[in-house]
Amino acid sequence: MRLDPLVRPRSIAIVGATDRGGPGRAVMESLGAIGFTGTIYPVNPKYPTVLNLTCYPSLIDLPEAPDIVVFSIRNPLIPEQMRLAVKRGARAAVIYDSGFAELGGDGVKLQDEIAGLAREAGMPVCGPNCMGILNPPARVTTYKQNIMDPAAIVGNVGIVSQSGSVCIGLLSDLRRYGVSLSVSAGNEAVTRTVDYLDYLIDDPNTKVIATFTETVREPERYVAALDRAADAGKPVVVIKVGRSERTQRAITSHTGGLAGSSRVFSELLRAHRAIEVSDLDEMTEVLAVCQGARWPRGRGISVITGSGGLSELILDNATALGLDLPPLLPAERAEAERVIGRITGDGNPFDAWGNGNYAVNLPHAMAVADRSERIDSICYCNDTSNDPVIGQPGRELENVTMLTTAARASSKPHYLMSTRSGVMNRKQIDAMRKEGLVVIGGTRQGLAALDRMGRWAVPANPARPRLAKPQTPLADRLGGGRRTINEFDAKRMLAAYGIAVTREQRAATLAEATLAARALGYPVVLKALSDSIAHKTELGLVAVNLKDEAELADAFARLSARLDAIEPRPADAAFLVQEFVRGGVEVFAGVSRDPDFGLALAFGMGGVAIEVVRDFALRMLPLRQGDAEAMIAGTRGAALLGAVRGGKAADVERLAACLYALGDFAWHNAAGDAEIDPNPIKLPPQGIRCVVVDALIVARPDAGP
Ligand code: ADP
Ligand code: MG
Repeated sequence: MRLDPLVRPRSIAIVGATDRGGPGRAVMESLGAIGFTGTIYPVNPKYPTVLNLTCYPSLIDLPEAPDIVVFSIRNPLIPEQMRLAVKRGARAAVIYDSGFAELGGDGVKLQDEIAGLAREAGMPVCGPNCMGILNPPARVTTYKQNIMDPAAIVGNVGIVSQSGSVCIGLLSDLRRYGVSLSVSAGNEAVTRTVDYLDYLIDDPNTKVIATFTETVREPERYVAALDRAADAGKPVVVIKVGRSERTQRAITSHTGGLAGSSRVFSELLRAHRAIEVSDLDEMTEVLAVCQGARWPRGRGISVITGSGGLSELILDNATALGLDLPPLLPAERAEAERVIGRITGDGNPFDAWGNGNYAVNLPHAMAVADRSERIDSICYCNDTSNDPVIGQPGRELENVTMLTTAARASSKPHYLMSTRSGVMNRKQIDAMRKEGLVVIGGTRQGLAALDRMGRWAVPANPARPRLAKPQTPLADRLGGGRRTINEFDAKRMLAAYGIAVTREQRAATLAEATLAARALGYPVVLKALSDSIAHKTELGLVAVNLKDEAELADAFARLSARLDAIEPRPADAAFLVQEFVRGGVEVFAGVSRDPDFGLALAFGMGGVAIEVVRDFALRMLPLRQGDAEAMIAGTRGAALLGAVRGGKAADVERLAACLYALGDFAWHNAAGDAEIDPNPIKLPPQGIRCVVVDALIVARPDAGP
């Protein structure tokens, strides 16, 4: 469905237009304000004219088929009017009213009815439960708020929001960016976020895209759109609500869609180079940074202030956020101090007060930062507001001049940063804009925006060649109707991918177990083995560190009794004798399937830590080069690997190889596996291997034989 009639209509019918008010009149007034040169058809049987335009009694009476019909009427009347719109050949529609799928029950039916009519007619629809669409460059709007200053609205940010209030929020302060298209998409009965995304990626007026999303519909198309945006060099800034379970429940009852797992979604965004932010403050700063003529090309930030205290405050917050503020190198420091005098701290943030010669020191600090290879953006802190009541008159513009002079001599982006979010001076903003520079604000949000853009600029890791799929008979056993695959079989399947597993043997009787233990060498571990026992420890079916035949016999008797006590006793029950892997660090890895976005690999420290600390890294499959190493480095607990084991690089390498192989295994078996759970993987203190000690594979319920 082409969106042109929806986003840039040339003829607009407004059903329910009146002189008295309501969305219909606001749209008509805004169309006047924005300089719309097409045709407006008010439709209302009650009036001969609306705002001095000829008013038509019914859509059927219009002299031409309109590009778009705007429904400024209550929801029960809409299906009938929609039929008329289709009949009259309308090419698109906007429905403002609520009372549809977001209410459930009859609301869903009403929405389905309208969506059915529109789809059949091939008609894109914005809403219902929305505010409409604002297209300043095309001088057209169906957005139901009044436009006060049409010139100030135009810009390069494309907004797509499932919440009207978020549109209001983003449009409420347009000092630092303007809009190429703003869509309040509402319930998305027909036309969806991904449709608008596709449009904006191709829209020459749009340079950056901001989205607010409760529910992602058509996940595969959505992901493809993110990739296309990245290839087109257009950052997609995303707020996705549903990070807490309470929010997820609210969403379910609010828009009629389910919010997927937020961790997977965040990871998906990262993998597809979208920029995730958590609120409108963070989003605004990224949009502002995108207005600069130069964008950060990496994450290194130099923050320059005139105050030690402020430097410390910023450093605390930047450190907590994991921002990259590289300290001055000794040579840089020497060069800085030669002119400025004593510098506090490690020089980033750079308190350039020194000997107090402000007009010399600040430019010198910027020059030092400019020459540093580790610095990608330079940020000078200065606080003032739109209507300052105190301060040094004229100083605002002096600061701007200093910055623009420094920026002209440099190839790096320069920023003026206010320390309070949203508190900034319009004169400064305008003067900076003339030079292609921007003001950012709020130290956390502002600096985080530079970091986000710096990350965005770094290309994604290259794809990684996958292992060849090994030819093993076991690989085909998944589809054999087995829900779960026990430890022994699961490990054989993993071993076929070169993943190290414990040496072990199946045993049916004590005699077989004893022979196996002798062959393996004591100490050994004895476990019960069955497809129907997913978690053995819970049932007391794992006995570790058995030092001799007597201990093995004891354990065998104990485990047998416990197996016998299970009602009914699993028909496939057997025993597993395996080497005991002493000491070392336990980690876990697990592949699971997100219903929307496919397979994701988790990695973290093992044991209770996962449930309590929830310290794990996540990546979508297939893994790209460097992903496994980054996952290991990105887990707080993995620091333990270094601390406990003297930081042997070989460990990380082996563990990474294991994660890559696991990813390949999951990818090859994607059709059948729902969950692959090697837990724990042990890194014994000898440091010679990393070995899977237990594994479980759960097949997808719908995977046929
Ligand atoms: P479960 O089915 O309960 O997950 P596991 O096979 O993972 O059973 O065993 C439980 C715990 O016992 C493991 O997390 C690990 O700490 C320890 N363990 C199991 N097998 C071995 C082994 N071969 N060597 C050393 N420790 C082991
Ligand atoms: Mg286990």
